[in-house]
Amino acid sequence: MGFGRRKDTASRPWRLSAKLLIVSSIVTILGFSAICANVMLDMRRSEEELARQTLENLASGIDSDIARNVELYDLSLRSVVSNMEAPEIDQVSKALRQLILFDHAVTDRHFGAIQVFDSAGKLVVDASTLDPPPENRSDEEYFRVHRDRDVGLFISRPMLHHGTFAIVLSRRITGEDGRFLGVVAGSIRFSYFHDLFGRLHLGQNDVISVLRRDGTVIMRTPFDLDVIGKNLGDVPGVKRALSEPSGSYTGAGSPNHPSRLYVWRDGTRPLVVLVAKPWDDIFRLWRIEATRIGAIIGALALFVLGGALFLAREISRRAEAEEKLEELATTDALTGLRNRRKFDAAIESEWRRAARQKRPLALLMIDADHFKTFNDTFGHQAGDEVLIGIAICISDSVRRAGDCAARYGGEEFAVLLPGLSPSQAFASAETIRLKVEQWCGETAITTVSIGVASMVPDANSQWTAMVRAADEALYAAKASGRNCTVLASGPKLSLVA
Ligand code: GH3
Ligand code: MG
Ligand code: MG
Repeated sequence: MGFGRRKDTASRPWRLSAKLLIVSSIVTILGFSAICANVMLDMRRSEEELARQTLENLASGIDSDIARNVELYDLSLRSVVSNMEAPEIDQVSKALRQLILFDHAVTDRHFGAIQVFDSAGKLVVDASTLDPPPENRSDEEYFRVHRDRDVGLFISRPMLHHGTFAIVLSRRITGEDGRFLGVVAGSIRFSYFHDLFGRLHLGQNDVISVLRRDGTVIMRTPFDLDVIGKNLGDVPGVKRALSEPSGSYTGAGSPNHPSRLYVWRDGTRPLVVLVAKPWDDIFRLWRIEATRIGAIIGALALFVLGGALFLAREISRRAEAEEKLEELATTDALTGLRNRRKFDAAIESEWRRAARQKRPLALLMIDADHFKTFNDTFGHQAGDEVLIGIAICISDSVRRAGDCAARYGGEEFAVLLPGLSPSQAFASAETIRLKVEQWCGETAITTVSIGVASMVPDANSQWTAMVRAADEALYAAKASGRNCTVLASGPKLSLVA
């Protein structure tokens, strides 16, 4: 059954507002999320900046402490060197020589006794005793380095020195003629570094490395003998730390270790201090905060979206209900065609539209023939079925979007056909009439008579004139024997013979 009903557009604004509600809540959620993400990223940047500053300060503090001690010890070495270079030193007694050489030497529990070796590596003077035991250090790196050339202050690799781990600081003794006279050496024990690092409050995964300028690890906390003494000069980040005065890089140290931020500061001294903190630790608090805020924002977003979807569904339901109500209010219950109320509204608006567009508007008035007799013969219920059948024949023939087929009253139907000329409207009416004739021929003998009017409205005309004309044409059809179509004629109408 094709009744050709047009979907009403009344609910569209509702659907639109439901969509708008969803879109606006999504935009709001996205906006809030963007603001939050921005704030969180700012917080992250601040955390990074704070960590960088803290590590820089730490590196700077450790660096200056080490540099001061190295410098102090070096001053003592220099003083011994300059005294040893004086020719008179060999002529004084052992005790006096001890006094001259070491009277101004700094002493500290972390500093080893300064020793003087001759050009063959034999220990000749020891600050701790007047009679040093026989000792030869000609094989040691610090001896060989000075024998070959003057390198100034030489800091050794970490080594076992007089029973404890230490670094040996040494200087060359050069005669007036440039001859190599021997080496002055002293040590700074690892206890100094343990003491220094022990005073710091470090994170569990923080790392501090003290490097010689060639990249050799002198000391490290946490203490790790696998790393101490290793040369890291080829590691790209370490390379930068050795060549640039201050800076930072991200590295993992080794494949199994977490990625860390490495920072160094004022690294122009003999030893460079690298301080590192894992990025995970740097962002730990931030991550907790970000997760918390993210969870709250996520929950709020879900709540807002859920609310918006619920409201949108309610709006749609209401729109559907209104659509159904509208449909019921404008539909004829028996035939399913438009009712009289809807027809009156449609003819009013189509009449005005046709007047604006200067296009024709056609009207068919359809009336069942001898219907009273049919009712009296076959009963009211059979009559109703015939009316439904006629409605189907009409709606099957009237399918364009702007067409309006309505039950005008009783056994009368009206069809509005915008844009149809009299001849086209006449042809349309004939289609309906023949369809009814054909259909009824199969069941009982019922036919329809049709009055047709088509006119191009002008500013002064009323649609009632067209209804009247179509009615008159219908009467004419009845008068001329029924089961026929008559086209209205009149002064105001467009006529087709
Ligand atoms: P004519 O050919 O001149 O139109 O004769 P007619 O009998 O069709 O005209 P008349 O106006 O005398 O009778 C109309 C009849 O239509 C009267 C009524 O019984 C019947 N009728 C009106 N509405 C309904 C309805 O809803 N259902 C049924 N079954 N009959 C209806
Ligand atoms: Mg009638
Ligand atoms: Mg009738």
